Amino acid sequence: MFNALIVEKDEDGKTAAGVQRIEIDQLPAGDVTVAVEYSTVNYKDGLCIGPGGGLVRNYPHVPGIDFSGTVEASDDPRYAPGDKVVLTGWRVGEVHWGGYAQKARVNADWLVPLPNGIDTRHAMAVGTAGFTAMLAVMALEDHGIKDGPVLVTGAAGGVGSVATAILANLGYDVAAVTGRPETADYLTSLGATQIVAREDINETTKRPLEAEAWGGCIDAVGSAMLARVLGQMKYGASVAAVGLAGGADLPATVIPFLLRGVNLLGIDSVMQPYENRLRAWERIAKDLPMAKLDAMIQPAILSDLPDLGRDILQGKVKGRIVVDVNG
Ligand code: NDP
Repeated sequence: MFNALIVEKDEDGKTAAGVQRIEIDQLPAGDVTVAVEYSTVNYKDGLCIGPGGGLVRNYPHVPGIDFSGTVEASDDPRYAPGDKVVLTGWRVGEVHWGGYAQKARVNADWLVPLPNGIDTRHAMAVGTAGFTAMLAVMALEDHGIKDGPVLVTGAAGGVGSVATAILANLGYDVAAVTGRPETADYLTSLGATQIVAREDINETTKRPLEAEAWGGCIDAVGSAMLARVLGQMKYGASVAAVGLAGGADLPATVIPFLLRGVNLLGIDSVMQPYENRLRAWERIAKDLPMAKLDAMIQPAILSDLPDLGRDILQGKVKGRIVVDVNG
């Protein structure tokens, strides 16, 4: 038997999460069984653990949209016992049982072999948020980053922290937007060269275009923040839209697209094909200093998850929560 965080739903539709001992036979079908070592807490996990169950499609459920660990058994020739692997996306932790357990059984197609240069703990310091940050960096590179600072919004959060560290390591000037001034030293330690107060970007303006300021942007916030940033981009620059921590609406005009040729690039980490995931993880191992990842880690164990799920939905988490499922 092994430990798992199980979310259950009662007849009135109320959900509750707690650590239980379960049997391997209870795991869903899949061709690879993984001894999970680490998982993380992403914004989506907050929704899945919290009241109402968010994105969970079946109960009882083991949330955890990402994990790293060691293959224990495999019916697929691509994986053998002892291989180190990482999983993000594919609706694991929402539809299929996820990483908040000491074992997981999944489809081999959803896994990626962990590249050299990164261990299972650092892989989950990256996790879905950091993997998405790398996809966003790659999308900006594909479209060309213009001269001038690259803006990162929601910078003290998971996506923002990793995006800041990767961009700084690649040599870009990073302007980090945060609503928490107390995180300035942290963001500077990750490589941000400029700290921008959230309200300085967020304050409303009726002008659809402002002075050209940013050579690129990774936006984890959406809504008024994204709308305002679009009007501040340099001619032909791109915004990689990653998240909606500030809301799902977009109160913008088409003017930045028409008069400044701004590109809005949508980033989806969930359905990325295998080749893209492998390329992104290889870039992470190469372009993200592990010492910077260490500075982002907030350690946790399975029984901490109900509280941490609440914290991330309230924008209170700094950096990346790494859950030691055997802790
Ligand atoms: P976090 O909660 O770790 O970070 C979000 C950050 O956004 C906060 O730390 C805060 O940063 C800022 N923020 C929160 N609320 C507001 C607000 N109301 N207005 C302005 N800023 C706000 O989440 P993640 O970094 O893990 O995820 C960020 C977003 O990206 C989420 O919406 C998530 O669902 C999405 N996401 C999307 C993925 C994809 O595939 N597209 C994959 C992973 C995540 P600060 O305190 O510095 O201001």
